[in-house]
Amino acid sequence: MQIKYGKPVMEGISIGKIFVYNRMNNDVCDERIVDVETEIARYKEARTEVIVNLQELYEKSIHTVGKATASIFLIQQMVAQDDNYNTAIESMIRSQKVNAQYAVAKVADSMALIFKMMDNTYMRERAADISDVSEKIINALNGGIVNVIHSDEPVVLITDDLSPTETYKLTREKVLSIVTINGSVNSHTAIIAKTMGLPALIKTDIELNENLTGKLAIVDCYHNCVYIDPSEEVLEVAQNRLQRDLKQKEIYKELRGKKTVSPQGKTINLLANINSLNDVDIALSNDAEGIGLFRTEFFFLAKERFPTENEQFEIYKKVLMKMGDKPVTIRTFDLGADKATEYLRMPEEKNPALGLRGIRFGLNRSNILITQLKALLRASLYGNLKILLPLIISVEEVEKVYKILNDIEDNFHSKGIEIGDYKVGVMIETPAAVMISDLLAARVDFFSVGTNDLTQYTLAIDRQNQFVEPYYNAKHTAIKRMLDMVAVSAKANAIELSICGELAANLTLTDYFLSRGYNSLSVVPEMIFPLKQKIMIP
Ligand code: PEP
Ligand code: MG
Repeated sequence: MQIKYGKPVMEGISIGKIFVYNRMNNDVCDERIVDVETEIARYKEARTEVIVNLQELYEKSIHTVGKATASIFLIQQMVAQDDNYNTAIESMIRSQKVNAQYAVAKVADSMALIFKMMDNTYMRERAADISDVSEKIINALNGGIVNVIHSDEPVVLITDDLSPTETYKLTREKVLSIVTINGSVNSHTAIIAKTMGLPALIKTDIELNENLTGKLAIVDCYHNCVYIDPSEEVLEVAQNRLQRDLKQKEIYKELRGKKTVSPQGKTINLLANINSLNDVDIALSNDAEGIGLFRTEFFFLAKERFPTENEQFEIYKKVLMKMGDKPVTIRTFDLGADKATEYLRMPEEKNPALGLRGIRFGLNRSNILITQLKALLRASLYGNLKILLPLIISVEEVEKVYKILNDIEDNFHSKGIEIGDYKVGVMIETPAAVMISDLLAARVDFFSVGTNDLTQYTLAIDRQNQFVEPYYNAKHTAIKRMLDMVAVSAKANAIELSICGELAANLTLTDYFLSRGYNSLSVVPEMIFPLKQKIMIP
């Protein structure tokens, strides 16, 4: 039995077979293709995806490992953009009518061999870059991580790291839990895993050894470790713990449907944070009294182009209909920073977390925001819609959004398109929003405090950066004082007040939140029952 330690993103335990996902090892089959142009287009798309990912990797790692080491990603980008490399692959697909994966693998092998035989050390080292970048392209052609998990049962996925988009594409039918070597517990990757109810260990001290695939593992997020090939005794203890967790879930069921009222008579709305339409079922099965945060940007990131108004309308309508008359808070896309993809054509930024993201991205690229707001207003007919604006720092931004909303309403009115009632609120997730919360409260229907970013921007700690993670303290006195201040502004203007950052699920702070007047808490679905129990039966 081996024991490897990591950082858990939430409590829980899972027992299953391991699947090691090593981006560097893809099986490639030689397949004949009929439509050469489609295959070349597929290749070009995969290559562009890799170029964009390499840029992201470069920007991310420059802060952590320094410019010199990070430049490896720029070199790999150059390989992917190299004319000889691309022409060789495209002409092989064309002349031999083979699948793109096979052409990439063959061209990579022969080019790497040529480089390996060169006299110059620098050039010899480039052979590894050719192989690396080719593996990445093959991986993208294979459809990414979800498509390479071949197992009849859900697996314990062990890999180096996952991007938020990769995690978003995972399903609970395929994955039981996640173990990564890198990453940060405050990242969107961790939050998405939590929302899906997947126990996950981040920054685990483990090697990506393919021989582990198929072995039994216990991911124990109570003891922050993964047991590989567990002994009989350890397995028995884990199975008992799993049974206990299941029993606890049965106990929680007794609270189902009951209003969340504290012994002092305070009523609290317990809402769910979701990232996709699929998450609505998880929210409902955990008795969510509404959706407190729907992060719509992941729907954008999973696509190769901007979703159309109709595509968005269908999603929002379905979420609203599934939730009936319960409130559904849909946040306009918070794209940018770690949530970017190729077709967004983001400018190169030195500090993306302080860059074009959230509402400033939306107002800067207003056509995209207008399309989303149109879809939302059309969907407002089908439920209880609350529109939430991310990363607000000024009243002017809110006024600009109101202007867009008014124009859309006028336009719909002239065309006879009906809309329903809706509310507009803002995320309080920047120190600026806290400091002007009195002014904002006078202009909006509700506040939702995003403690994840509020912590990042208040403490000057990059929430993505594993090296400064120990300093990321969402319970810092500065944050608490900000929460107090926001509550005062909300109360003075009698607007709804909620917290949707991860701190909302911290059971040690529940009493404090209630005492300050936070009457809604929006958390990952799995945390709704524990919170309900904590409030009703303290
Ligand atoms: C937050 O910042 O607290 C929040 C809820 O938004 P996100 O985690 O999506 O940035
Ligand atoms: Mg945020």
